[in-house]
Amino acid sequence: MENLRTTTSADIKNVPVVNLYISDFQGYAYKNGDNINVSGPALDMFYYPRNKSKFFFSSLMYHEMTHVFQWHGNFTAPGGLTEGIADYVMVKSNIYEKEKYTKFGSGSRWDEGYGVTERFLEYCDSLRKGFTAELNKKMRYKYSDHYFVELLGKPVDQLWRQYKAKYGKSKFLQQTQLVLCFQGELLMETHILSQIVRMFLEMIVRNLR
Ligand SMILES: [Zn+2]
Repeated sequence: MENLRTTTSADIKNVPVVNLYISDFQGYAYKNGDNINVSGPALDMFYYPRNKSKFFFSSLMYHEMTHVFQWHGNFTAPGGLTEGIADYVMVKSNIYEKEKYTKFGSGSRWDEGYGVTERFLEYCDSLRKGFTAELNKKMRYKYSDHYFVELLGKPVDQLWRQYKAKYGKSKFLQQTQLVLCFQGELLMETHILSQIVRMFLEMIVRNLR
């Protein structure tokens, strides 16, 4: 658990045995207690190309093994946050599908889970080195949204808005600007744009805002 910096024995959850079961069930993989369950049919269906199967399986194991060792505030932490941290360890370990992974600025809630929360945690890390590791450490006995204030000086909702403004919105504005340029070009170059077309373009621009 190098990525969560639980390197001293006092910080590490005492887990003597982890069982890994590959069996026939619907879904992908899950953890119950110290058992990791992986769906055999899912392995068969999703792990293509075959020469990358080991890579995909390792990626999944990073995620599931994090669930075994991470803190979750005695199950009071939002499920999406624990999923985000499990993905965080996977991403930081560099064994994940980079091209297909969630992009920065995606999602509508900070605790949506998986890639959405993972990218947000990376953003929080950029504001304070080691943030995610410290957050995990705080979650040993209980969870509170206030940990974000303690570590970063701002409530989590405000941080999420900042994050969205940094990544999500700029992409959105780029789209709007493209349409505006298109409209400007037509207006300047043709001079014969009918009222109806102009209204139509204005409507598109308005809907994009
Ligand atoms: Zn998970």
